[in-house]
Amino acid sequence: MNFEQLFASRASRMKASEIRELLKLLDQPGIVSFAGGIPDPALFPSGAFSEAYQEVLAGDQAGAALQYSISEGHVGLRQWLADHMTSIGVPCGIENIVITSGSQQALDYLGKVFLSPNDTAMVTWPTYMGALGAFSAYEPRYERLNVHENRPAADIAAEAEAAGGRVKFAYLSADFSNPTGETVDRSVREALLAMAEDLDCAILEDSAYQALRYDGEAVPPILALELAEKGDIDACRTVYLGSFSKTLSPGLRIGWVCAAAPLISQLVLLKQAGDLHTGTLNQMAIAKVAETQFEDHVTKLRSVYGARRDAMLDALEAHMPEGVDWTRPEGGMFVWLTLPKGMDGAEVLAEALKTEKVAFVPGRAFFADGSGGNTIRLSFSMNAEDEMREGVRRLAVVLRRMLV
Ligand code: PMP
Repeated sequence: MNFEQLFASRASRMKASEIRELLKLLDQPGIVSFAGGIPDPALFPSGAFSEAYQEVLAGDQAGAALQYSISEGHVGLRQWLADHMTSIGVPCGIENIVITSGSQQALDYLGKVFLSPNDTAMVTWPTYMGALGAFSAYEPRYERLNVHENRPAADIAAEAEAAGGRVKFAYLSADFSNPTGETVDRSVREALLAMAEDLDCAILEDSAYQALRYDGEAVPPILALELAEKGDIDACRTVYLGSFSKTLSPGLRIGWVCAAAPLISQLVLLKQAGDLHTGTLNQMAIAKVAETQFEDHVTKLRSVYGARRDAMLDALEAHMPEGVDWTRPEGGMFVWLTLPKGMDGAEVLAEALKTEKVAFVPGRAFFADGSGGNTIRLSFSMNAEDEMREGVRRLAVVLRRMLV
C-alpha cells in the first residue's frame, strides 16, 4: 500500500507537508498497523512454490517455462481455472479465460475496452481505490452504484447521455469488498443484473476476496446467476475478475478474467499490445501449486484470517465509544468504520500515529466524489490476535479523546 499516493491523490483536509511528516511516523518501532490490506507473508505456501519452481525448471518443461508464450495464458492454468469457475457455478471453457498480470491489469484493460471520455462508470460509494485509479485514466464520469436501491435506469441513462456518453459498466466487489468487507446478497445481485439489462451495460464483478469466506452461506457469483438464466456464457454481460493475490501470492502477479469469448478475444489483443503475456514460469508454477494445494491452503487461510476477524470485531465491541459504527464482514480482510459526522479520518490518523502509534487508511480515498471523510478502513489480515486487541484499544483511546 503506497501511503504517499493514497493521501496525495485524493482530497483530504491535510496539506502535503503535513502528510510527509505523517509518513515518517509509519516507520517508527511499536506501530500497530491496520493499514496494509495485504496478505500475511507468513502464510504464503513458500515450500510448495519452491518445489513447483524446481520441478518446472528441472524437467523437460524448462524450455517452455523460460520461453515466450501465448497471450491468452498457459493452457494448463486456464484449464484449472475453467474447472475452478465451474465449481463456483460458472461452467465455462478455456476460451472464456484470459490470464492477466493480477486483476489490476484487468481493471486497466477493461477501462480501455469500455470507456471513452465522458462515458459513465457506475461504482459503489466507497469502492476499491485501485479501480478508480485504473478507470480514471480513461476519463469517465462516475455515477453512484447503490447496492440497496438504484434510481430508475431511464434517469441514469438520460444523465449519462446529457454528460456526453453512455453508461458502460457497473463495477463492484460483491464478496467482502475492499474497503467495507460487505457482501451483496443474492436479490441485490439479481436486481443489478436487471438494471444492467435496462442500461445495456456490462457488470464488472471484482472477486479478489471471493475464496476468503469465514462464515455464512456462499452467494453465487453474479456471472453464475446470469449464466443460469441465459444458458450461454457468450451471451453474458457480466465480466468476472479473479486473482491469486489473496490466496496463493500477490507477488507472482497472476489474475484472470472469465467472460464471454468475444470480450476475452478483445482483452487478448490488449494483452498482446501491452505486455505480450503474463510471465510463463510464474503461470506454470502457480498452476502446479493450485492443482495440489489450493483447497487445503485456502482452508488454512480461512481459519487464520477468520480468527483475526473475530479478534478485531470483539475488540471493537469492547472498546469503541458510542457514535462509532462498523461492518461485520463474513470474509475478506477489512472492517469499515463510520465515525460521527464532522470527524475526518485523515486527522484521526495523524493524531493516532503521533499519540498512540496506530495506523489505518482514512476512507475518503475510496470515494469517487471525495466524500466519506468520516470513514476509515481497518485491515485485520496482518496482525496477531493480541496485537489486534491492543491496536483497537489504542484507536478507541484516540477517538474518545477527539470526540470530547
Ligand atoms: N481488486 C480489489 C478489490 C483489490 O483489493 C485488489 C488488491 N488490493 C485488486 C483488485 C488487485 O489485485 P491484484 O492485481 O493483485 O490481483
